[in-house]
This record gives sequence, structure tokens and C-alpha cells, in this order.
Amino acid sequence: MLRLDEVCVRYPGGKADVVERVSLHVPEGAALGLVGESGSGKSTLARAVVGLTRVTAGRVHVAGTDVTNPKRDALAHLRATAQMVFQDPNASLHPRMTVGDAVAEAVTVRRKQSGPELTAEVVRLLDLVGLPSRFVDRFPFEMSGGQLQRVAIARALAAKPRLLLLDEPTASLDVSVQATVLNLLRELRAELGLTYLAISHDLAVIHYLCGEIAVMQLGSIKETGPASAVLKSPLHHYTAALVDAVPRLSGRKTDRIVLHGDPSDASARPSGCSFHPRCPAGPAMVEGHEICALEVPELVGDPHAVACHFPIRR
Ligand code: SF4
Repeated sequence: MLRLDEVCVRYPGGKADVVERVSLHVPEGAALGLVGESGSGKSTLARAVVGLTRVTAGRVHVAGTDVTNPKRDALAHLRATAQMVFQDPNASLHPRMTVGDAVAEAVTVRRKQSGPELTAEVVRLLDLVGLPSRFVDRFPFEMSGGQLQRVAIARALAAKPRLLLLDEPTASLDVSVQATVLNLLRELRAELGLTYLAISHDLAVIHYLCGEIAVMQLGSIKETGPASAVLKSPLHHYTAALVDAVPRLSGRKTDRIVLHGDPSDASARPSGCSFHPRCPAGPAMVEGHEICALEVPELVGDPHAVACHFPIRR
């Protein structure tokens, strides 16, 4: 459903790629979670997939069609096949448009429908996301964050997509509401056979939604594989630090890994392994690790792959 081959993204006037040679493969019906700190390039990569950001090198294929920097036919294919759900539902809904009008607009962009047929489709989409039909007359300011995110999902589903890109889909919601939206997303995937590319800095969200994980740091994939394997037995020192950073009710581990340094400066990407200045096992810590600052490690392993000269041994 989604194949990325060596995709690079560089902003106009930028000195370095913010996404660097990313290759990923998401089969139809699967869910891949992209995780990493702010500035790791996750959202930029998702925007490049749907044509909102220009790809500077590499290829993007969606449902078998090359949609790299799409024009005309490829753009039409992309809009009919892939839709994006953004972090802030408020920003993607017009404040003076009722929910019914907002969903109807998304339907009519794709299909010529009007009158009772259009009303029935709007009600069907609201029902699909768990909102009663009486919500058609409501305005965004009359609704909660969770309800607004359901409307945003209904708008995305109006195109009858096969691939949904979920960019921090619950990050703006109260914790108590997050679970209900995550449950809805899981149910929709099962019911409609959707494929997901989900982006989050929250490992718990990705673990709940996705069977596969790819960990990004400064624009490149550091580790990828089955979610349970990557989170339970991380091979990359960056992934291990992210897992260690998750708060635990039982208190902090005493041997917890703490990362230092600025996580978000892609314009000054370090040589060799881009994580080496912050790596707890890197050149500053262990003699003989000079290679970390000299050579970019390749992503190796199947299905659990890691890009590290000295992966964690289990
Ligand atoms: Fe650390 Fe070296 Fe592995 Fe990079 S390649 S994560 S610096 S051990």
C-alpha cells in the first residue's frame, strides 16, 4: 500500500536534508508507527507522502502508483487513496461551518452527491465515527476535542481512502479521551481494512495502534521491526533511551538512560551516525567507537533491523 524508496526531503534554502534516505514498506491492512522526538522528521515524511512537502530525492509509491511530487493523474489517485488526519482538529475545521456542512464538503469534493443522498452519506460517516446524527447542526465551538477529532476522521473517510496518515492523532486530547479515539481508530482499521501510517512521540499510542514500528532520529530510520520486539528489546541506543523515558507508575528505573544535547538540529547533522554526540555508548564513552563519528551505519536485520555499529546485545 505504501512504499518509500530512499526518500529525501530538504526545505528550500536548507543546508541539510530533514528526511534522509528513508525506505519503508507498509503492506495493505498493516499499521506502521513512526516514532521519534520533535524535529526527527516524522511529520515532514508524512507530508511528503501526501504531496504537501516536496520530495528532493527517492520515490513514493501509494497503492502501486508513483506519487512522488504528484501532478494531475497521480495527485487524483493520491487524494482518492490516501488521507491525512492532523493533530489539531480545530485547525482543520472552519469555525463557522456546521459539522454536517464540513463533512458534506469532504464528500462532494470526491463525488457528485446532493439532497437526501448527501444527507444520508453525512449521517453514515458520522455514525462510522460514533457521532449521532443530531451533531450535523453543531458548530466546532459546541464540541469537545474528542468529538472534533471524530469529525476530522469522518472528513478523511469521506474520500473512501485505503491509507490513513495519522499525525499525532491524540496529542491534543485529554488523556481520558485519547483512549476512546484510539479505540475508534483500531475499530475502523479492522472494519474498513485500512492501512495506517501513524506518527507519534508517544510510544504507548504507537504500540496500541500499530503492529510495526520505525524509529526516526534526525531524519533517518534508526530501528524498525515488530512493535513488541522493538519496544521490549530495543537494539538501538536511541530507541532504548526513548523507551526508558516513558513515565512509569512504579517509579523511575535507577539505571535509566538520560539523553543530553539538542534533539532537533537537522541542519547541523553530525558526521557518521547522526546520534553519536548523544549516544550513551558512543565515542565519548567507549574507546574504539571512533567509527561512530566516521561512518553512517546501514539499517540491517529482518524483520527487526537496526542502524548501529554497536547494537545493544541481549
Ligand atoms: Fe551509538 Fe555508535 Fe550505535 Fe550510533 S552507531 S547509536 S553512536 S553505538
